[in-house]
Amino acid sequence: MVSAAPFLDCAPGVPLISLQGIRRQYGGQGGQPAVQVLHGIDLEIGAGEFVAIVGQSGSGKSTLMNLLGCLDQPSSGSYRFNGQDVARLDGDELALLRREAFGFVFQGYHLIPTESARENVEVPALYAGTPEEERAQRAAALLGRLGLAEKLHLRPNQLSGGQQQRVSIARALMNGGHIILADEPTGALDSHSGAEVMALLHELADAGHTIILITHDREVAAQARRVIEIRDGRIVADSGAQAVRTPARALPAPRSAPVSPGLQFWSDLREAARTAWRGMRLNRSRTALTLLGIVIGVASVIVMLAIGEGARRQVMERMGTMGTAILYIGSKAPATGGPAGQLSEEDLQAVRELPEIARVLPVIGDPITVRHGRADKQVYVFAASEEMPAVHHWPVAQGRYYTAAEDQGLAPLVVLGHKAHQHFFPDTPNPLGRQLLIGNSPFEVIGVMSERGADSGAQSYDDMVFIPYNAGRARVYQAQTQPDYVVVQARSSEVVHAAEASMHRLLLARHGREDFGIGNAAARIQAEAETRRSMTVMLGLIAAVSLIVGGIGVMNVMLMTVKERTREIGIRVATGARQRDILRQFMTEAVLVTWVGGSVGVLAGLLVGGADCRGCAGGVFRDRDVRRICLRGRDGIAVWLHARQGRRARLDPVVALSGDLR
Ligand code: ADP
Ligand code: MG
Repeated sequence: MVSAAPFLDCAPGVPLISLQGIRRQYGGQGGQPAVQVLHGIDLEIGAGEFVAIVGQSGSGKSTLMNLLGCLDQPSSGSYRFNGQDVARLDGDELALLRREAFGFVFQGYHLIPTESARENVEVPALYAGTPEEERAQRAAALLGRLGLAEKLHLRPNQLSGGQQQRVSIARALMNGGHIILADEPTGALDSHSGAEVMALLHELADAGHTIILITHDREVAAQARRVIEIRDGRIVADSGAQAVRTPARALPAPRSAPVSPGLQFWSDLREAARTAWRGMRLNRSRTALTLLGIVIGVASVIVMLAIGEGARRQVMERMGTMGTAILYIGSKAPATGGPAGQLSEEDLQAVRELPEIARVLPVIGDPITVRHGRADKQVYVFAASEEMPAVHHWPVAQGRYYTAAEDQGLAPLVVLGHKAHQHFFPDTPNPLGRQLLIGNSPFEVIGVMSERGADSGAQSYDDMVFIPYNAGRARVYQAQTQPDYVVVQARSSEVVHAAEASMHRLLLARHGREDFGIGNAAARIQAEAETRRSMTVMLGLIAAVSLIVGGIGVMNVMLMTVKERTREIGIRVATGARQRDILRQFMTEAVLVTWVGGSVGVLAGLLVGGADCRGCAGGVFRDRDVRRICLRGRDGIAVWLHARQGRRARLDPVVALSGDLR
């Protein structure tokens, strides 16, 4: 890092500014004709001089001023500032030189429209790293001295032209303003304000500042102590350097001890965030639209993932309760005609002996009237062997299940489903030992199953009661010689297909014709899970696309703001901003927009995806079938569609598309 000192310590005998053979041409690339604007300028200006450069419009004055102020580089020739070759300085050093040595005053004032008078004056000090308090104090003091003490908080468009020009002079003085470069400072002002500004420049010249005043007006130029005339890019007259009366600076230089790099970083960041926030606020509708894009993108990603997750859990739940290795056998009439087949005990024994098969569970089940006291109800009575809890991965909550011996001994025992318990024994937490009349036979309650929930399959197992297979056949389903269906558990989900094939082969060999059917629940659930998974991926992709669109929106807006604010960028560069200062400012804006949009999106997504169905806090949606849509989070985040007659369904892709409400 270079220090400012070498630029400003006047070496005796060395002119402050020395131009030799300076030329500047525009164009000349891409087939455009080159336009030579400056044709070899030789010029020396000493510290403390008050120089006017006068010439007609188009003679190259502004071009020369931009070179003098290091805003532009000559095409050829040398520019020495205080003896140093400016061409050798890199970008940061040039920025340093601009903010330490020069103060610019422009015809169009060039104030940043979104900032107040005081903040505009502070800008050069911002890039010099002056601490915040000192900055504000000095800016207020300068504005006070220039008669604007009352106007500190007004924005440029609330000030008159003369006042704006005084603000820009205060800004030029903010970092010391050793050399004031004023390009037509009175050009846009009425004669009274113009005279005021000239008086101010005189005062500064008397105080020791070097003033370079550029004007097309000879009367204005005549007020300077030295007049240089320029015509068509050449110096045609020079009244000559004059003895400098006062040697330098009366204004206190604002050089303070630079703050530590860490502190500097945070204060820079705060400043950038402040500017970014202000820009966002002033362009409310544009910001809101950009934010909307991001909010929708982020929220939809979250909601889609939540819905997918809900669907996944539902499938997992069903896999857990039904098992991933479950097959069903039933008898049916063969397609070729003839009576339905019979599944005999011997058939089941043969199936049991297949290597792929773990358990075989014959089931008889029908709705039967069940009574206790005055409560009676049609209940599905599930008669099966003692292996039912193992096959269905379903534990007993209270009491116990019956044993194989009890099944063989035709014991009249019953185990209640969770809801059956509530229905028949609403006031009896422990119903063990009570009697239940199933059909016409009394059964003793020995256990209650754990709750399976509403999502466990087509029938609600919680409503059922469970009795031993042999007791059921003897006492309830009189004279039924064969099971309604048989639940078969394969050894693992990997051998389900092999088990299906061997059972098919075996039964075909035993029966000689296809009078039976084999259902493969596991394969069906797995296929369904696959469909759901791909649907979820698809929804996720759609959501991701909307997020990308939101991102492109941010890029687009940033591009627009940069283009829109080239003038502001120019002002900041002229007041000593480095390239990275500018970059940081725009990056901060982009990050701020993205961050705010992202946070709101996450919140919205969680709100939509995480609400609870029981309170039905979600939005209300009316349709012929669907009464309302709501959301819940108890067992994973899901969207519920409530239909008429108390039916409802989780909105997952498959259900939503098939319209299959349960
Ligand atoms: P003045 O300030 O004396 O009115 P300028 O220095 O602004 O004159 O411009 C001098 C000449 O250079 C004009 O003819 C102008 O058209 C030309 N010129 C200035 N800037 C550019 C540029 N960026 N590209 C091409 N020509 C330019
Ligand atoms: Mg000009």
